[in-house]
Amino acid sequence: MKTALITGVAGQDGLLLSKFLLSKGYRVVGLERSGNAAILDRIRDILDQIILVRGSIQDQSLLVRLLEEYDPCEVYNLAAHSFVPSSWGQAILTGEINALGVTRILEAIRSVNPKIRFYQASSSEVFGNAVETPQNENTPFRPRSPYGVAKAYGHSITVNYREMFGLYAVSGILYNHESPFRGLEFVTRKISLGAVNIKLGKARELRLGNLEARRDWGYAGDYVQAMWLMLQQSKAEDYVIGTGEIHSVREFCEIAFARLGLDYREYVIVDPRFYRPNEDTLLVADASKAHRQLGWRPSVNFCELVEMMVDADWMALSHS
Ligand code: GDP
Repeated sequence: MKTALITGVAGQDGLLLSKFLLSKGYRVVGLERSGNAAILDRIRDILDQIILVRGSIQDQSLLVRLLEEYDPCEVYNLAAHSFVPSSWGQAILTGEINALGVTRILEAIRSVNPKIRFYQASSSEVFGNAVETPQNENTPFRPRSPYGVAKAYGHSITVNYREMFGLYAVSGILYNHESPFRGLEFVTRKISLGAVNIKLGKARELRLGNLEARRDWGYAGDYVQAMWLMLQQSKAEDYVIGTGEIHSVREFCEIAFARLGLDYREYVIVDPRFYRPNEDTLLVADASKAHRQLGWRPSVNFCELVEMMVDADWMALSHS
């Protein structure tokens, strides 16, 4: 039986990757820093199927002990401070976790078992104020948030350890990926839950920022499969993963509210508090390398994704 170690296991991607690896017969060891009940609640369905360890990737000796004790053949680093705007308020912590944390794991792998295959969750935010659209694996990095800067470090240190020490270490540059398990601070889940609350009469309005902001949004369930595929190749390489399509926050609202028989224009209020600076660049993926080499393609389109999220919130709330 293969063993995988997943850091950040109680996040959206940690949960979906755990389910995917369990379905493939892996033993899953999950590292989770947070003891927050709401966060741990997300993985309650799989708690009896995984080995859950409480701790942080900042704890070097814990990382070494985990690799020695459980002997994983694959390590997926999904632990991160993940909300871009709040990385400005926690710039140092973001650097400690999203940047230096990666080196800590790479060092532990190098010292315990250099044959372990390593996946680093890189991000489209490394492109920041991108020099070209769409972006591919060769597009230069121009991050413009502490989150993006730290992810750029994590990405590059992974490439450096691969080249310097011959580790099988890859960075997956993933664009926004969503699911019913997305955190409530992200706009997609804010909209799906907000629309359901309005339909149920629990709220009267939904306050959002820039409705014209556009993203390359995909389904996180598809993206965790790409992570796994990246570790099954004969050669370690980095890949861009996204849909190649962009949609606006407005379009998301339109489909989400319509799913519930509502017109978003009657409920959505634009509130400058949620506006972000510097949002003029279009981050959109050119995932042709992943199509070609991994045979990966998204299976859920934008409309299906929005409806999946609304339906899940509706099922959970209308029955509670
Ligand atoms: P991000 O791409 O990781 O920052 O994901 P988010 O879901 O937080 O934001 C996606 C886009 O939605 C950004 O362009 C935001 O400016 C835009 N947006 C518009 N209104 C809101 C809002 O109320 N909350 C959030 N989080 N984003 C919003």
